[in-house]
Amino acid sequence: MNRIAFKTGLLLLLLCTMTLPCAGCAGEPLPPAGEEAPLEIVATIFPLADIISRLGGEKVSATALLPAGASPHTFEPTTEQARSMARAQLLCYIGGGLDDWAAQAAAAGSGSLALLNLLEAAQERGWSPQPGEDEKPNPHLWLDPIAVRDYLCPAIAEAMGKADPQNAAYYRSKLAAYQEELTALDGEIRASLEGLPEKSFISVHAAWQYFASRYGLDQAAVIAEFPGQEPSASWIAGLVDLCRSHGVRVVAAEPQLSAAAAEMIAREIKGRVILLDPLGGAGLPGRDSYLNLMRYNAAVLKDAFTGQ
Ligand SMILES: [Zn+2]
Repeated sequence: MNRIAFKTGLLLLLLCTMTLPCAGCAGEPLPPAGEEAPLEIVATIFPLADIISRLGGEKVSATALLPAGASPHTFEPTTEQARSMARAQLLCYIGGGLDDWAAQAAAAGSGSLALLNLLEAAQERGWSPQPGEDEKPNPHLWLDPIAVRDYLCPAIAEAMGKADPQNAAYYRSKLAAYQEELTALDGEIRASLEGLPEKSFISVHAAWQYFASRYGLDQAAVIAEFPGQEPSASWIAGLVDLCRSHGVRVVAAEPQLSAAAAEMIAREIKGRVILLDPLGGAGLPGRDSYLNLMRYNAAVLKDAFTGQ
């Protein structure tokens, strides 16, 4: 569906939903006495939805908008997804050009949906991108577990508490428990990636710089500046030169993007293609939670740099 058709459809949908009575007033049944309806939260990407469900426990119902296998960089929501957004009370997205389609769709809709732009919220809480990136920070900060622990999770828990004040203390206790798990995850990854014989790789898109700098690795270059666009032959030739001159032998592809250029470069440099995954998914064994997804990526990098 093209963008204009989508926007028109969305507008009609939202006009329809605005004229409906509120949930529980007449249309939808109230939950049984003594049971609270969960706080409905939509997130753009699976890792966020998983983090939200951990922070919200039984008080929250979290849904990911992006289907498994899709890239947030090239995605546009369907009308059904816009409808699920209209039912929710809170939308969590990363921002920074990654998944702003969600905010645009939500902004056209009902005024009751609270929006949480996590990149902005993290910056308000003191997170800062790497030097030279002050203007437009790279949005992939969820791939740094410490940024998740110290900035994203507190921002999400606070937004949940605002949307559902009677459970604010519950969300704070879930936050503390999950932050401990993230501390343990960081220690686990740090230990597994310490002292590797190599540390440089190139990647299919610019997702891994925060992860790399957190754990002493080096994302030396990216194949596609704009995900979904094939790089030019001269850009690929430049990358091959860079890999040869810097001894880079590991090329990271991702399940959501074409691996053709990565495979071409790996053949030229007699290197190897590995599969890193920034998104994971509920049905993917070993990548079915944020914590497992990060363990998966650390293990793939470790194997690549130790020649396994
Ligand atoms: Zn990305």
